[in-house]
Amino acid sequence: MRVGVLALQGDVREHTASLTALGVETVPVRRPEHLENLAGLIMPGGESTAIAHLLTTSGVREPLARALEAGLSVLGTCAGLILLSREVLDGRSDQWSFAALDVAVRRNGYGRQLASFETTLEVVGLGAVPGVFIRAPKIESWGSDVEVLATHDHGDGVFPVLVREGAVWGCAFHPELTADTRIHELFVSSLVDR
Ligand code: GLN
Repeated sequence: MRVGVLALQGDVREHTASLTALGVETVPVRRPEHLENLAGLIMPGGESTAIAHLLTTSGVREPLARALEAGLSVLGTCAGLILLSREVLDGRSDQWSFAALDVAVRRNGYGRQLASFETTLEVVGLGAVPGVFIRAPKIESWGSDVEVLATHDHGDGVFPVLVREGAVWGCAFHPELTADTRIHELFVSSLVDR
């Protein structure tokens, strides 16, 4: 089974290391042809506007949009979640997203760089998992088909931080920045099931 890691900008190395630790073959996705024959794809955290720009200039944007429409399994973390969302609040005026996941996210919804934090999250089926939040998007609304797998209360209400809508997963935090590979394992096991 080959799992792609969108390798245009961001936490590419860290996601690759997490997958490798699970014994999964990884493919760095930089060009349209790298999307072929993937069991799934991870879209890493980083800077959503930079990744969006590189998606366009690399030619990956259109074929990836088609692959998502055709049901490609994808896990978007942080900036990757922003890129998958139906609606981006506080985005740059020209910010676009794939609208593959029925959520509205607010960029930097948990505060800016200095407000980055670590916490422990309770994930459905996994139990306690470390959650690293860095300028994380806040999932402010979500559709009825979106399964909420973990939430966090930052003092202003309870919001989802790990969600799944069929083959499309969104994660507001950074599982690739800890030694705990269970979020990756959860995603990878869904690929085997499909
Ligand atoms: N706030 C960043 C963005 O808008 C995402 C932060 C991250 O991926 N760590 O792209």
